[in-house]
Amino acid sequence: MSGDVRNCKLCFEPMGFSAFSMCQRCLEGMEKVRSYVKKHPYAQLLDISNGTDLSDEFVKRIIDYTVERY
Ligand SMILES: [Zn+2]
Repeated sequence: MSGDVRNCKLCFEPMGFSAFSMCQRCLEGMEKVRSYVKKHPYAQLLDISNGTDLSDEFVKRIIDYTVERY
């Protein structure tokens, strides 16, 4: 058993050691969504999904995760 394998908080995939609680793919996705929403404050889920080339499922998870922190 190894204690240093963690799962990404967003996609729940196992990831190696990282200073962040989510994997690189999710960090990049989150950054994309964040900057898109900044430019388009009234964008709906599907607009964000189309504008960032991320799946709507993934965008929704990012938004839920972001909203929970406020
Ligand atoms: Zn992830």
